[in-house]
Amino acid sequence: MAGTQSGGAIVADESGITRDRTYRVGEFMNKKFQIVDTGGLVFDDKEGLFMAQIKEQAMIAISESSAVVLVADGMAGLTSMDLDLAEFLRREVLKRGIPVRVAVNKCESEKTGQASAAEFWKLGLGEPNAVSAIHGVGTAELLEGVFEDIERLEVAAGKEGKKVLDEADREMEDFLKGYGIDGEDAKGEDDGFNQLSKREQRKVVRMKNSLDDEYDLDDEMINVAIIGRPNVGKSSILNRIFGSNRAIVSDIAGTTRDSIDAIMERPSSSPSVPPTLYRFIDTAGIRRKGKVEFGPEFFMVNRALRAIRRADVVLLVLDATSGVSEQDRVLAQKVSDDGRACVIVCNKWDAVEDKDEATYDKSVRYVREELPQVRWAPIIFVSASSGQRVSKIYSAVDEAIRAHRKRFTTAVLNEVLRDAVAWQPPPAKRSGAAAKVYYCNQVSVRPPTVVVFCSSPELINDNYKRYMDRKFRESLTGWTSTPVRWVYRGRR
Ligand code: GDP
Repeated sequence: MAGTQSGGAIVADESGITRDRTYRVGEFMNKKFQIVDTGGLVFDDKEGLFMAQIKEQAMIAISESSAVVLVADGMAGLTSMDLDLAEFLRREVLKRGIPVRVAVNKCESEKTGQASAAEFWKLGLGEPNAVSAIHGVGTAELLEGVFEDIERLEVAAGKEGKKVLDEADREMEDFLKGYGIDGEDAKGEDDGFNQLSKREQRKVVRMKNSLDDEYDLDDEMINVAIIGRPNVGKSSILNRIFGSNRAIVSDIAGTTRDSIDAIMERPSSSPSVPPTLYRFIDTAGIRRKGKVEFGPEFFMVNRALRAIRRADVVLLVLDATSGVSEQDRVLAQKVSDDGRACVIVCNKWDAVEDKDEATYDKSVRYVREELPQVRWAPIIFVSASSGQRVSKIYSAVDEAIRAHRKRFTTAVLNEVLRDAVAWQPPPAKRSGAAAKVYYCNQVSVRPPTVVVFCSSPELINDNYKRYMDRKFRESLTGWTSTPVRWVYRGRR
């Protein structure tokens, strides 16, 4: 619960600030839930730094939550702090599709309670819930409301997903009609599909990024996870990154889960462009020596998996002197499965002996062979000890973010699709049956997800799917560093 009050949120009546988040489990009408209390949120703090830390804590809590309750003090009445907080919640939280409800606490008597709660309409977060935590009044209604909000949102999200796919279906119908194929014909043998492949042998077009690039680095924090086996140099890389740059928040006070994020601000080259903010996830896990890192492997992997889930971009760090292990493959698979962008950072390049011109190529080939899970990820060779090429990490991260959020137009994608299919049609079964590929459409980003409509998706094997992925990556610059999800759909 985000509140201008602290302590046990709904429960205790004490002011003051705890920067830790606390977790409590509850049950209401057979639904189990967990409450995260972020402690107080202060928005008029002069140093700014403190504020940033608390906000950061709140954002971590919020990112883990299905709903947020803003707890205000009904006795004190509406304060400017409430207004600031509401503004923050509207801007940062509602925007992300997380429902927010206002609870006005200390509304002891039914009548005056409703009256003082009414004032909080001004927060612009819907009808305020009058509650009295010490008397337990109104809390059931509050929880009911919260669960309703969550349910409504889930339904809406499901509908939204369906809408996207329906839309894609409709576009496909139109597209086929444009080629004189109506829905039913397309299933037949001579379905006019040949008309699509008249462009056979056409050179694969190399597209520039200029198309439809709506993505902007400015307004959002970029979440970066540094993962890899113990001793590959994660802490050294982190220190390099923070050593040479301004850290606006380094260690945020220890949290319940002992996960410490560090935020770094990279100034932009032009004063009119805001700086880029990078959040390095769970730096405690990176810096901590001893117990965690050298304890059972499980903890290391588990911690890394959690970091991956919270990241936009994962820096998968390898040790150039010791090669790729099974654990690296597990991590790489997870990065790909979770749809995260990835940059492979090969550290300790300084310690590779007898380097010659072929060493670089050989190393790239080795990493590619060993880590096919992230075959699309760029590889950079760095030395955290000397600092060599560490600065390349920034541009690689920015590039990865751009790729992760890159949307290509339907026209461009279908041009590539036609070329790919013309070059190599889907393989035929021994019976002669083969799938026909009609049309594709990018339905989402982060990671890019493309729906490919075809006659019989079950006939398209993994080999062909890999071929398509490769072909698209060759033809379009802009999707390096990110996994792309392919969804093969039959006609309905
Ligand atoms: P972590 O466990 O992944 O965080 O690894 P550390 O950053 O603690 O580094 C482990 C060891 O490798 C330390 O002894 C570092 O001094 C050393 N190390 C880190 N980076 C480099 C590098 O670029 N070159 C060399 N030669 N050694 C490095």
